[in-house]
Amino acid sequence: MNSYVSHLECAYSGKKYEPGKIHTISEMGKPIIVKYDLERIAAEVPRSSIGDSKEPGFWRYAPLLPVCSEKNRVSLGEVVTPIIALENLESTLGFDAKAVFVKDESRLPTGSFKARGLGMAVSMAKELGVKHLAIPTNGNAGSALAAYATRAGIECTVLCPDNTPTINVRETQMQGASTHLVNGLIGECGGIIAEGSEEMEWFAVSTLKEPYRIEGKKTMGLELAEQMGWSLPDTIFYPTGGGTGIIGMWKGFKELIELGWIEDKLPRMVSVQSTGCAPIVRAWEEGHEFAEYWEGAETISSGIRVPSALGDFMILDAVRSSGGFAISVTDEETLDIQHQIGLSEGLLLCPEGAATVAAYRNSVDSGLVSSSESVILFNTATGLKYPMPDVTSKIDKNNVEYSVFKAR
Ligand SMILES: *Cc1c(COP(=O)(O)O)cnc(C)c1O
Repeated sequence: MNSYVSHLECAYSGKKYEPGKIHTISEMGKPIIVKYDLERIAAEVPRSSIGDSKEPGFWRYAPLLPVCSEKNRVSLGEVVTPIIALENLESTLGFDAKAVFVKDESRLPTGSFKARGLGMAVSMAKELGVKHLAIPTNGNAGSALAAYATRAGIECTVLCPDNTPTINVRETQMQGASTHLVNGLIGECGGIIAEGSEEMEWFAVSTLKEPYRIEGKKTMGLELAEQMGWSLPDTIFYPTGGGTGIIGMWKGFKELIELGWIEDKLPRMVSVQSTGCAPIVRAWEEGHEFAEYWEGAETISSGIRVPSALGDFMILDAVRSSGGFAISVTDEETLDIQHQIGLSEGLLLCPEGAATVAAYRNSVDSGLVSSSESVILFNTATGLKYPMPDVTSKIDKNNVEYSVFKAR
């Protein structure tokens, strides 16, 4: 079997690269992206065949994915993640809004949307015969890589800064990765991998340093379009770290338009960051093409604690050409809204997901977004992986004071 991949190319210069070979970054040091023969897909694959697919997760979009042989698809039971309406916004946000939905990516294997990108990268590694994968990670990418690599029978080494949340480090080890804590930042973990790659025969799957994680993340956009009856919302709020998700979705939308599967009206893409690490927001505000390194990055939203993104110009392009914007929120706003959404909607968002809710509220308050727009907020991981407040109320079984149940 073959894929519909026509070639690969440098996302900046357009320089072409051959398919079927192992690629990292382009000659200019920029990400390499995958291009498809969309004319042939349009001629051979009817849109309705996607709806008829028996595949329960992102493999249903196989014609738009780079894997050639079905036997190389590495799967851990992916699902189409639900879109859940927020129904009690009046109490949490102070205004009512009828078309605000959370796309809940926490339902994917390993509890985060990193499963999409790394599931795809591992499948391509399998197809191309790569034997040992390595990654620097602040958390969710490591456990997703560990799970999929183990599933594929590929060795895997994960390097984490020693302040990575314990749960992420442990789950990574439990899913078969050789897991190590480094007394340094994520960039320094990446440096160790780059330097040792030849000796250790590692292939690095760092964000945007290989072409296929984007293709996996792209399926968030394809899935959203299919779920909404091949249409899209007015605005998408996305918690942005390395940016594979926003870049991937934007790429996917453009492919769908070229295929004629959706109309030429795309959502505004809003990049959400934390005030403690907001390189993309700063570059957007200053009108720059690239983002400068963010010194002293610090936020509880570890998934978006990324001081420097290789695909910065691609994130900024998606934001600008969609008529969107970039916005940051404080950790206090994030934690407060995470708690509020738990109390009012019964949804335990991750901080990164809660940050999109806070950004949405602030955007409506400042008039950037209208409360009548249809909005999708991405909850990128399960809230269960993050610290939560202690339960402090204690009951003495021999001396129950019922008044404590009344105070809430
Ligand atoms: C990695 C991660 C992000 C950022 O994703 P990008 O697509 O790389 O910008 C957001 N939220 C969580 C929970 C993550 O793990």
